[in-house]
Amino acid sequence: MPGDRKPLIDRLAAFPRLGLANLPTPLEPMKRLTAHLGGPRLWVKRDDATGLGFGGNKLRKLDYVLHDAVSKGADTIVSGGVVQSNSQRQVAAVAAKLGLPCHLAVYHGRLAPPTPEYETSGNAFLNRLFGAHLHDVPWTGDRNAAIRTLVDDLRTKGRKPYFVPYGVSNVLGAVAYATTIAEIAQQAALSGFKPSAIVHCSGSAGTQAGLIVGAAISMPDTKVIGIDIDAEPARVRTDVVGLARQAADLLDADFDEALVEVVAGHAGPAYGVPHAATIEAIRLAGQTEALVLDPVYSGKGLAGLIAMIRMGRWRNDEDVIFLHTGGAPALFAYQSALGI
Ligand SMILES: *Cc1c(COP(=O)(O)O)cnc(C)c1O
Repeated sequence: MPGDRKPLIDRLAAFPRLGLANLPTPLEPMKRLTAHLGGPRLWVKRDDATGLGFGGNKLRKLDYVLHDAVSKGADTIVSGGVVQSNSQRQVAAVAAKLGLPCHLAVYHGRLAPPTPEYETSGNAFLNRLFGAHLHDVPWTGDRNAAIRTLVDDLRTKGRKPYFVPYGVSNVLGAVAYATTIAEIAQQAALSGFKPSAIVHCSGSAGTQAGLIVGAAISMPDTKVIGIDIDAEPARVRTDVVGLARQAADLLDADFDEALVEVVAGHAGPAYGVPHAATIEAIRLAGQTEALVLDPVYSGKGLAGLIAMIRMGRWRNDEDVIFLHTGGAPALFAYQSALGI
C-alpha cells in the first residue's frame, strides 16, 4: 500500500550508495533530431555518461548493489553476461575501482559472432583491461546458473563472493533506477516542461522497473515506455512487473500494473543482431546530436522511439525523453557489420 506522500528523494535517501557513478547525469535537448523527425520536442537523459569505465545504466544500479556487497564484507565480486555485455564490463570496472577481484561467467552462443572482432574487441577487451577473471561458458538460456556455480566454487575455496545477477537486475538495482526519475523531475522543472514520456530499451528489466516505481511516486503523468530488445517482450514485461512490485514494496509505493508498457517489434531478427532500423537510428543520433548509440540496446531503443513518433503517438508540443542507457563500447565490436 502507498504510504504517506513522502517525496521520492526522501524515500531514496534510506538506501546508501557508493558514490562511484557520476550523478546526476545531464538532461539535454536534442534540437537537431527533433527538427529532423518533425515530432515532439526530444530530450536525452545521459545515463551513458555515468563515468567509470565508459559508463552506462548498470553503474547506477551497481552504486547501490555493490554498496551492499561491501557492507556485507564480500571479498570477491561475481557476475556474468554475453561476450559483449555492457553489464559485466561495468561490474569489472567497479570491482577494479574497489580493489576487489572480479569473476565473470562469459556466455558464448546466445548469438553467432556477427564480426571477426566480436570476441575480442569492445567490452571483451575492456573486461581484460579492468583485470577481471573470465570464465567461458556455453549459453543455456539460464542467465544466472553459471554465475551461481562460480559463486559456489569460490565459497568452497574459502572466499566471500557476492552474486551480481545478469544485468544487475535485482530489487536494489531497480530501486537505484528510481533515482533517475528524481533527477529528471528536478531537471525538467528547471527547463520548464513536463515530459509526456520517458522511452528507453528494456532487457533484464531493472531499469524499467525502477523508472515505473519512481514515476508512480513523483511523475504520475509521465509514461515510462520500454522497448523490448531481447525479442522476448512477454518475458521482459513479466520481469518488469515482478521487479517493480519488489521495488515498490521497498519504496512504500504503488503502481498500476495494467499500465506497464513494453513495446515489441524493434528487436530486429534476434537479440544482439542489428537491423536496418537500428543502423539508421545509430547513424541519425551520431549525425544530428553526436550521441554514440550501440547496436544491441540503445540503437534499437531509439529505433523504437523513432517508429512511435512516425506513427504519430505524440503531438509536436509534447516533450519526450530518450533515456540513453549507454553501450558505446559494443559499437567497436560490431563496426564491420554496420556499414558505417
Ligand atoms: C543492460 C542495458 C540495457 C537494459 O537495461 P535493463 O535494466 O537490463 O533492462 C539498456 N541499454 C544498455 C546499453 C544496457 O547495457
